[in-house]
Formats: sequence, C-alpha cells, structure tokens
Amino acid sequence: STKDKSRNSFQFYDEEADVIVVEKQELEDDLKKAVKHGCREFVVYYQPIMEFVGGVPSCCGAEALVRWESPERGLVMPSGFIKEAEEQNLIGDIGHYVLLEAAKSCKHWNDFGHPEYKINVNISPVQLVQKDFVDRLDAVLKQTAINPKNLTLEIADDFGPGVLPKAVKALDAARALGCRVALDNFGAANSALNDIKALPIDTIKIDRAYAKDMQGDTFAQSFVKTVSELANSVDVDVCVEGVEEDKQVTMIGDYPINLVQGFFFDKPLSKEEFGKKYI
Ligand code: C2E
Ligand code: MG
Ligand code: MG
Repeated sequence: STKDKSRNSFQFYDEEADVIVVEKQELEDDLKKAVKHGCREFVVYYQPIMEFVGGVPSCCGAEALVRWESPERGLVMPSGFIKEAEEQNLIGDIGHYVLLEAAKSCKHWNDFGHPEYKINVNISPVQLVQKDFVDRLDAVLKQTAINPKNLTLEIADDFGPGVLPKAVKALDAARALGCRVALDNFGAANSALNDIKALPIDTIKIDRAYAKDMQGDTFAQSFVKTVSELANSVDVDVCVEGVEEDKQVTMIGDYPINLVQGFFFDKPLSKEEFGKKYI
C-alpha cells in the first residue's frame, strides 16, 4: 500500500510488478479464448485510400484495420493486443481471420459496382514467416475468388537479420500468386532506403509523422520529395499516410505521389458504414 511506500519501497515496486504480470496473464487468457472461439470477437474496419485522378482524390479501396470487441474489455485497439498476440503465437489465426474477412469485403465491393477497389491487409512479421502463411493466403484467394491483384499485403520493415530472407521468400511467393506488397510506415524506426531495393514491394507508405511535419519542416518536405522521386524512378507507388489537412494535400500534389490516406478524407469505418459511403 502507499502508506509503507517510503519505509519499504522495495515492497511497493514488487506489488506493482505483480499487478502487471497478472493483468498481462488475463489479457493473454482472454485473447486465447477469443481465438479458440473462432475469432468472431475481432472486427475489421476499413479506412478509405484515395487515388489522385486528374489531380482529384477519389476512393480506390481501403486498408483493413482490426479491432477487438471483447465482452470482458470492450473495444480494444490494435496497440492493446497485437504485440501480445504475436508473443502468444495467436497472430497467425487472428491475421488469417482478418485476411479472410477483408478479402470477402473487397470481393463484394468488386462484384457490386467497384471492380477496381483494392484492399490492403496488415501482416505481422511473425505471421508472414510462419511456414503455412503462403498456403493460407492461397486458400483465402480460392475461397473468396478475389482477384489477387486487388489484395495488397502491408508489411513493416522490422525483420530481424535472420528473418529477412524468410520474409522475402514469403513475399515473393505472395506476388507469384498475383498479390501486391506495400512497405508500411516508411521513415519510422528501422527503415532504410535500401529496403526499396531489397524487398519485393509495389508500394511505399510514408509514415504519418512526415505528413504531420511537412508544413514548415524542410527535412520532412525533402524526405517526402526524395522518397517519392526514388520510388517513382523504380516504378513503386507512393502513399502518404496520416493526411489530416487540406494544406498537406496541396503540398503532396507537387510530388510524384498517387495515393493518400488519413482523417482528412475519412477515419476507419465499419463494413456497413464503408458500404453506405463508398459503394
Ligand atoms: P498502420 O498499418 O500504419 O495503420 C494506420 C493507423 O493510423 C491506424 O491506426 C489508423 O486508424 C491510423 N490513422 C489513419 N489516418 C490517420 C490520421 O490522419 N491521423 C492519425 N493520427 N492516425 C491515422 P490503428 O487502426 O489503431 O492501427 C494501428 C496499427 O496496428 C496499424 O498501423 C498496424 O500496424 C496495426 N494493425 C492494425 N490492424 C492490424 C491487423 O489486422 N494485423 C496486424 N498484424 N496489425 C494490424
Ligand atoms: Mg498499415
Ligand atoms: Mg501505416
């Protein structure tokens, strides 16, 4: 208790650590249960991705973003459970469920007036290098009958050195099936310019920190300009994430960037809301 804190601080820290361990254990137990019960507590939201058509942005598809609607916890965002799901080896099943739901949604939109709409799905590095990943991807393609070129896998470039060759192999296989690959959050944490060449990618998504800093910050501006020109010269598409203001859209218009995404256009929407607004 706080009363003994000054007299016996060792005791105090111990108690705190115990509470954290118990909370983590409970989270992991709830997650395991959710997966065991068929992943139906996981819900996929869809944030529109806009493509510039003659300078005017129009919806060309969406990014699938998972939420966990837990009966015990309420709505849990990805930052509250993806890491734990990776640690507990649950991310393969959750990721597969999201992939299947997202592919079904996209195929539905494709069949009902928008054959050009594409879906982007985030794939954890842990999921990507599992030995059944490519087979499960192939199963989703067959089960949904989605045109593979409408399915993009979003990957982050935070593979450990030993993992990179496995990741490249899985991505090559996914592309051989006709899917596309996007490098997510480029410019955050571990990104290297070399990734643009070393990884088999079709699109670069520039981290939202750059959209935020572009106004007034010449480094952020030069970064967006340089990366988009480099990508363009090797035939890689560019998407700027986290666009929140009109002014950012105008600035992006000066660079060879064809895709944008962010709250300025729309937030992640339920499947139903996305259907009402964009189908
Ligand atoms: P991400 O893939 O970079 O996704 C973009 C995140 O930025 C989303 O957060 C989205 O809601 C948020 N966002 C979009 N536009 C704006 C904007 O204009 N301003 C700001 N401030 N934020 C914006 P969310 O949904 O909380 O997801 C966070 C991260 O969790 C994702 O980042 C992705 O790395 C991971 N994630 C989400 N769904 C999945 C999934 O199904 N599988 C895996 N493995 N990871 C996922
Ligand atoms: Mg993403
Ligand atoms: Mg991103």
